[in-house]
Amino acid sequence: MNRLLALFFPPKCPYCGAAIPHDMTECLICRANFPEHPRIEALPSGEVCIAPFTYSEKVRKAIIDFKFHGNRFNSESLAAAVAASVREVYYKDMGFEFITCVPMSRDRKKVRGFNQSELIATLAAKQLDKPFVSLLYRDNGAAVQHQKTYEQRINDEDDSFHIVQDAVIKDKNLLLIDDVMTTGTTLSRCSALLRKAGAGRVLCAAVAIVDEYSKDKNTTV
Ligand SMILES: [Zn+2]
Repeated sequence: MNRLLALFFPPKCPYCGAAIPHDMTECLICRANFPEHPRIEALPSGEVCIAPFTYSEKVRKAIIDFKFHGNRFNSESLAAAVAASVREVYYKDMGFEFITCVPMSRDRKKVRGFNQSELIATLAAKQLDKPFVSLLYRDNGAAVQHQKTYEQRINDEDDSFHIVQDAVIKDKNLLLIDDVMTTGTTLSRCSALLRKAGAGRVLCAAVAIVDEYSKDKNTTV
């Protein structure tokens, strides 16, 4: 954050709201309480998704402030946590050449001003020193995923995702990033499209994974 700006509007910790110095992305207490290792969850497609966080109340606040209230400062901390998880789990024996993200329809992006998954993916790409490429797009008019319940998402026949025409991904390993993994159906659909277009391995990552308890309660994200 700009130093002068930070003097008048000190940045706040995305997770607890405490004022923090301008050169930090979260407070020391929250950082100390970050989970020690990433979560790893199976996707319906057979792949796995990793995430630095479970979708707890504090992480939910950080994501909601960022996603719906436009607080992009939070994205730095969330993206750094994703990058750290990717390094820990995927760098050991699995390389990847590009980073891409779950797309948002053009109409929705116009309303919100940005695609939160794309912003996280581009920031993580910088930290991981890999190129970010847009490989997928979504039809306008596609139903809004976060307003659906878990059951609706699982049973949803959604064919609104597509691959960009000139995507050159044959035999390339990719890292696919989403913001929150609920059922994993979105990531599964996107990775299936990428593999159908010739991609090698599709590694998936999210900021947070919604746990089983929340899924049973039909939580919307
Ligand atoms: Zn904090």
